[in-house]
Amino acid sequence: MEQYICNDCGKKHAITPVIWKCTCGSLLNLEKDTPTINVESWNRYPNSLWRYLETMPFQKESNTWKSITMGEGQTPLIVLDSLEPNTYVKVDYMMPTLSFKDRGAVVLITKAKELGSLKVIADSSGNAGTAIAAYAARCNIACDIYLSDETSPKKIVQVKSHGATIKQIQGTREDVAAAAQQAVKEEKVFYASHVYNPFFYEGTKTYAYEIYEELNGAPDTLIIPVGNGTLLLGAYYGFKELFSNGLISRIPKIIAIQAANCSPLIEAFNNGDLKAPPVTNKGTMAEGIAIAAPARSSQILEAVRKTDGDFITVEEDEILSAREKLSDKGFYVEVTSAVNYAGYLKYKKDPKEKIIVPLCGAGIKSG
Ligand SMILES: *Cc1c(COP(=O)(O)O)cnc(C)c1O
Ligand SMILES: [Zn+2]
Repeated sequence: MEQYICNDCGKKHAITPVIWKCTCGSLLNLEKDTPTINVESWNRYPNSLWRYLETMPFQKESNTWKSITMGEGQTPLIVLDSLEPNTYVKVDYMMPTLSFKDRGAVVLITKAKELGSLKVIADSSGNAGTAIAAYAARCNIACDIYLSDETSPKKIVQVKSHGATIKQIQGTREDVAAAAQQAVKEEKVFYASHVYNPFFYEGTKTYAYEIYEELNGAPDTLIIPVGNGTLLLGAYYGFKELFSNGLISRIPKIIAIQAANCSPLIEAFNNGDLKAPPVTNKGTMAEGIAIAAPARSSQILEAVRKTDGDFITVEEDEILSAREKLSDKGFYVEVTSAVNYAGYLKYKKDPKEKIIVPLCGAGIKSG
């Protein structure tokens, strides 16, 4: 049986609807056995990320997901430009709520439902809140979403449409999280946090499984945007499981991209630090990755180091020009999502290197 284990003091905790951090204050990871991957089993499931259900910490006979899924996952992997045949975009904005956050949200809310939660609270810069609100609505769980008063109006409309209660908070992204955590404590409800709840990563790890299936192996390199690192860590965990099962011979190199105006991780990475101290967000249009104090910084740094990866930062004008270039090739992404391609354009690649760039959020989400 899996349980929670503290990232710092190692204390173990039973999985309950209300626990989300250790008594010492640190965040929790999932302690579980590395799944034994049975590739044959995948075809027994619908064409969605639930093909990999048997690698996730659910009971084998668990059916809860069947009434919650909206067909998320199995997003297209496409050669972006025939002149660069080894570079693929993975079109993760082709998801029910138009961002990759559905990978984590559907798994997290399925777990919340199984634990009997009647209400969840989450805080978000937009897309995670939208995904949590949608899946909570799908299984009749009440939902409060804490957002900054500067969140894109279109994302706020999207959250509201699912019947979630919006709590707009003045202040930094960290203030928004603190307000949500205070409410979780007072109301004693499930904290559906994409940052703190380890089940979210059991969903984002399917990004790796899908790439593995599509390529019949692992790529050389993953370009991944980093705010809180939910896609980065999920992809890392997924490829690690494939590696442990002997299905791939190497975990892809992770090239992490941050906006230059809010890049707490790169300095820590270059200094060889184990954790990233918080920085001040100097303002970036890439609202989805404007995270000045990423709670899982030590794990993100470790993942990038272990894969022999690197960090790249991109300037505001580079983000906008990358967005235009993607549009010129037919792909309309939100501003935050253009960060990935901007980072790719700065990355010194080998022509033979097989690289995946995620397109994380749909263009209509931002202005
Ligand atoms: C959430 C999000 C990111 C960043 O993901 P993290 O988990 O915070 O690292 C990047 N792009 C888009 C479109 C997002 O919604
Ligand atoms: Zn602890």
